[in-house]
Amino acid sequence: MTRLPIADIAAGRLTPAQLAHNFADVVPPLQRQAALVEANRCFFCYDAPCIKACPTGIDIPRFIRRIATEDQRGAADLILSANILGGSCARVCPTEVLCEGDCVRNKEGDTAIQIGALQRYATDWVYRDGVQLFARKPATGKRVAIVGAGPAGLACAHHLAREGHQIDVFDARAKAGGLNEYGIAAYKVPDFAQAEIEWLLGIGGITLHFEQALGSQLSIAQLSADFDAVFLGVGLGAVNALGVEGDSLDGVRNAVDFIAELRQCDDLSRLAIGRRVVVIGGGNTAVDAAVQSRRMGAEQVSLVYRRGPGSMTATVAEQDFAKAEGVNVIHWAKPHRLLADDGQLTAIEFEYTCADAAGRLKSSGEFFSLPADSVLKAIGQTFDASDLIANLNAGDGPTLHLRDGRINVDEEYRTSLAGVWAGGDCVLGHMDLTVQAVEDGKRAAASMHCYLSAKEL
Ligand code: SF4
Repeated sequence: MTRLPIADIAAGRLTPAQLAHNFADVVPPLQRQAALVEANRCFFCYDAPCIKACPTGIDIPRFIRRIATEDQRGAADLILSANILGGSCARVCPTEVLCEGDCVRNKEGDTAIQIGALQRYATDWVYRDGVQLFARKPATGKRVAIVGAGPAGLACAHHLAREGHQIDVFDARAKAGGLNEYGIAAYKVPDFAQAEIEWLLGIGGITLHFEQALGSQLSIAQLSADFDAVFLGVGLGAVNALGVEGDSLDGVRNAVDFIAELRQCDDLSRLAIGRRVVVIGGGNTAVDAAVQSRRMGAEQVSLVYRRGPGSMTATVAEQDFAKAEGVNVIHWAKPHRLLADDGQLTAIEFEYTCADAAGRLKSSGEFFSLPADSVLKAIGQTFDASDLIANLNAGDGPTLHLRDGRINVDEEYRTSLAGVWAGGDCVLGHMDLTVQAVEDGKRAAASMHCYLSAKEL
């Protein structure tokens, strides 16, 4: 019998110079001449479909026209007024399925306008030069608590701070930024998330508090008593389990934890990586984990998804990028069990799947295995509100309504609790994208400002 490979997880597979190269900006910024040429390709469409495809409704033709006329300040103002995290979104948005996907030039024989790259060109100078485009109104004396310093919370904070309210933002982690700081591949946002936050805080009136988790250090009841309004932008805290034999073996971990560790590591040559990595999942987190494993020096990286490519939530561009990076993408297979030798992960066995006539996933009864010293699970995150909800909903008072496992909000992002709004990934019906979280925070802030304006001091 052939002996299975011995686990091999080690640091320093690549030199510091190779790692620096691999984790540099994956898409270099447009230079002035290229930006002007690209801006002048835009048709400046009336009733532009690209605007409708942007969750934050940025007036894309107008900002592109301002780039074309070299009014960079005007372009940045338009973008950041609609989307205060427009710098991050220019880097991480799946533009190929949003604005660029709907661009009228996105057709055979032509190419979509590079809207994301132009947005980055229009805004990068703002952070570089520390230019404040927005002014804070006189202090209102109203105080708002925001739980979660991710895109939704930060967008909400900035819009309310501009109105003159005093904002306290609480986050369970040691840094602000949420997904942008902890959950996205390092080569997409090198050294950017904190620079953007520093600029955003320049508006004034926003105080950040770290390592303050809802449920343990904070309670909604106390925040509601201490502040005039509360916004919950807590994101998703739990990861789905594989539910197969061997799930808890050493070497099996959540892809989001791997990405967060990598993002927070200041010396990648000291970060251990497997030689044979298997990533399970079909979303952007799976692709980010797989590509970063390759760029860390893993020799074999496979990404395995239970359905076909059309069902993956990672865009076609992301899937193609993973393949170009040497990731072996396998469709129609689901994990069956993890194999170990002396308690050490050595391989993962999969079962081929197929869909029946109604599209339901079926097992085939045929199996294959991949050698693995590291398995990264990227099979979806869920909103874990168990402690919070148990605590909050225990008494006779008002309850926070959930639906389908997420916070239920109305069209103004109001929860079932008076004076409490919510947005971002923790709310029902939310598209799990940074740009959607920003829009949630912005819309909630508009509603909260109306509420605060009518409230007596
Ligand atoms: Fe320009 Fe394309 Fe938008 Fe038309 S759809 S305004 S060409 S970016």
